[in-house]
Amino acid sequence: MTVRPLAIIPIKDCCGCEACANICPKSCITMQPDEQGFMHPIIDEAVCINCDLCRKACPILGEKSIGVAPKVIACKNRNDNIRSNSSSGGVFTALAEHIINDGGVVYGAAFNMQMEVGHQRIESIEELSALRGSKYTQSRIGDCLTRVKEDLRSGRKVLFTGTPCQIGGLRSYLGKNYEGLYCIEVVCHGIPSPAIFRHYLNSLETKAGSKISEFNFRDKTESWQQYSIRVKFENGALIHQRGAENPFQRGFIADLYTRPSCTACQFKKFASGADITLGDFWGSGIFGKEYNDDRGISLVCINSDKGEKLFNYIKSELFDIRPSTLLDATQFNPCIVRSTTMHPKSEKFWRAYKSEDFDALVTRLLHVPAWKTKLKTLPAYAKAVVKKIINVCIRRK
Ligand SMILES: Cc1cc2nc3c(=O)[nH]c(=O)nc-3n(C[C@H](O)[C@H](O)[C@H](O)COP(=O)(O)OP(=O)(O)OC[C@H]3O[C@@H](n4cnc5c(N)ncnc54)[C@H](O)[C@@H]3O)c2cc1C
Ligand code: SF4
Ligand code: SF4
Ligand code: SF4
Repeated sequence: MTVRPLAIIPIKDCCGCEACANICPKSCITMQPDEQGFMHPIIDEAVCINCDLCRKACPILGEKSIGVAPKVIACKNRNDNIRSNSSSGGVFTALAEHIINDGGVVYGAAFNMQMEVGHQRIESIEELSALRGSKYTQSRIGDCLTRVKEDLRSGRKVLFTGTPCQIGGLRSYLGKNYEGLYCIEVVCHGIPSPAIFRHYLNSLETKAGSKISEFNFRDKTESWQQYSIRVKFENGALIHQRGAENPFQRGFIADLYTRPSCTACQFKKFASGADITLGDFWGSGIFGKEYNDDRGISLVCINSDKGEKLFNYIKSELFDIRPSTLLDATQFNPCIVRSTTMHPKSEKFWRAYKSEDFDALVTRLLHVPAWKTKLKTLPAYAKAVVKKIINVCIRRK
């Protein structure tokens, strides 16, 4: 066996969409974790027949859709229970219920028993709760792209949901449009390493002396805007901690352990070909104070005629529907159009995480000295003077 990384694109550009592994007719591509725990394709050269299908299916190499100016809407799911259990306003569930009631199937990210995140195929309303809610770590696609094609060929409607690069990967793998396919992407900040998520879970399980049975990244019991992380253990222990104070979430938002490809994401600005984009409508203040009940508001960008038709089907399941603009959406949610930047101390994190307590390490790396915080509040001329003094001191050293 002669195995090596699949070299169709530079490793740093690979988003791990698994299109190459799904298309290979000889099954000689397997996805394996790199030293940071991100999945990358590995090829067994002895089996490869040089058919070039992997290159053709790679969305990084393919042409991207030209991002249209979408229709932008704010709205909420009518069903309080569904909205409370969704990360934003619960639009995903309304869309998925419509497809299932129409005899279709839905693909999305779910936890398995080992608390790993991977895409699953479901076809009943009862199974939907597994896909509900954001999981902030990269979801494994597995053989889902192959299964989507089988479903479409058998005439089933398919709702495929995921990050923009996963939508790009599916479209590139399929290579043509299918009438029955609906693609829904989430606005994507960037994706944290699954290995670090596991490492964090291990640290919690060691402290609690028990396995984790449930993990909720977006608990809204107290607030949507100031959501919490809620972790249940088999021994009954419970952690309920504000996202802004939770070490994993802080490291995620600060990009301490984000996938390198996310820093130059090729699927921003609706370039994935998704029919609808879903996110949090963080700028809901533009509709007045009373619009925000702090239980979740969805941002919906309708990017195609197909997306519009689908959205019209579920309109009766939603309320407080307000038309908005892309400018409103992006000023509060820049991830729609802009790639993230890796934290300057990311390398320090990777060097230290195996030997230091997770919580202490994240706190140390993200600590901002008081003088820096104060500096930010100074007027521009005073900032310039302080910077000059610092530079002179550095030069003298
Ligand atoms: C990694 C990640 C980063 C995000 N970053 C932002 C952001 O910066 N700004 C913003 O406004 N919104 C962001 N979102 C989207 C937001 O958190 C909600 O997922 C989205 O608004 C849908 O909410 P909902 O209430 O309609 O449905 P929910 O039920 O909350 O959402 C479930 C949907 O999310 C998908 N999903 C969940 N986890 C993953 C995953 N790991 N990989 C792929 N798909 C997943 C499911 O397949 C399903 O379609 C992000 C989501 C993820 C997964
Ligand atoms: S060239 Fe063809 S056989 Fe070889 S790895 Fe790519 S898809 Fe598989
Ligand atoms: S198809 Fe996806 S997983 Fe394969 S090399 Fe391209 S980006 Fe990476
Ligand atoms: S930021 Fe881009 S490359 Fe990274 S996970 Fe999101 S869609 Fe994929």
